[in-house]
Amino acid sequence: MSIQFINLRTQYLELQKNIGDRINKVLEHGQFIMGPEVFELEEKLAAFIGAKHCISASNGTDSLLIALMALGIGPGDEVITTPFSFIATAEMIAILGAKPVFVDIDPRTYNMNPAMVEAAINKNTKAIMPVSLYGQCADMDSINAIADKFKLPVIEDGAQSFGATYKGKRSCSLTTIGSTSFFPSKPLGCYGDGGALFTNDDELAKKMKQIRLHGQDRRYHHPIIGINGRLDTLQAAILLAKFERFEKEIEDRQTVAANYGFLLQAHTSEVAIPYIEPHNKSVYAQYTIKTNTRETLIERLSSHSIPYSIHYPTPLHLQPAFYNSSSKHTNDLGIAENCANSVLSLPMGPDLTKQEQTTIINALFNLEK
Ligand SMILES: *Cc1c(COP(=O)(O)O)cnc(C)c1O
Repeated sequence: MSIQFINLRTQYLELQKNIGDRINKVLEHGQFIMGPEVFELEEKLAAFIGAKHCISASNGTDSLLIALMALGIGPGDEVITTPFSFIATAEMIAILGAKPVFVDIDPRTYNMNPAMVEAAINKNTKAIMPVSLYGQCADMDSINAIADKFKLPVIEDGAQSFGATYKGKRSCSLTTIGSTSFFPSKPLGCYGDGGALFTNDDELAKKMKQIRLHGQDRRYHHPIIGINGRLDTLQAAILLAKFERFEKEIEDRQTVAANYGFLLQAHTSEVAIPYIEPHNKSVYAQYTIKTNTRETLIERLSSHSIPYSIHYPTPLHLQPAFYNSSSKHTNDLGIAENCANSVLSLPMGPDLTKQEQTTIINALFNLEK
């Protein structure tokens, strides 16, 4: 079989029976909305993350929206975030009428550079929203310290880092609110859309649950505005089956990443391998290298029919939706712009074989087998 960018098939074949049983159980009981699997999953994930509350959600974009709404973010407010992410991060700030204020990234980790945050804070700043990109947590101690100083909440966009650890603690347990996604290709993925929120704050948890359900506190009574942000019971059932293999997959991802590092050792003049802070354990949602010869490398991969991706070719402040808006950025975001031109993601996943990795690296450098 040809090499997939993210192979979900091996996992499926291994879990086929459990997934089938879980799905059939939902079809039998028929509670497709907020069925027992949803609550079973929330309990398991809260324990796994080490957070008091888990609030499952319809997807990782809605979960960011729910978090921002629960914090009361609205028109005129500013939220400090990173320009080097998927659009959803800044999009949900903007959709509430608030302004995403972009600060530049650390060139080694690609995450928000905490040294840039304080200068971006003003009286309109209402929150800080770092992203834990490619599966590695942002520098949360530094970001939390600044947030504490200015009494600001922090939302971690952990859509790519579910299962990662920072100083021994799980991603999504490190800040006021942690948000993640279960999009199929994320480290823990369902078979459709899904997401979740985590917090230790009882009031915020209550509010986020309420927002997830049209702002209602009891049936057909709506004190606040909310959304339809629920996770389907079927997706919760699939996640429960997949979760049983997840901790092994995190370890397998370390092995795959280490083997890439080994195979790329001879080519470090052409490509930089991912830099993982010693206190971090990445889940490698992406295995992203940096290179000055991206076009050449892409041509070689393409000629061998090896899939690749660029995360992300355009930093968010240069996306037309933001570039042309009144909230046009003013900060220097040169590092994010430079990274957008030089990053390249290779096929990655817990089930990528050593043989496939060798094929990929041989193609990347035109080596004979
Ligand atoms: C995938 C992703 C999202 C959005 O998650 P969906 O479940 O696709 O809505 C948000 N932020 C980041 C950084 C992502 O990678």
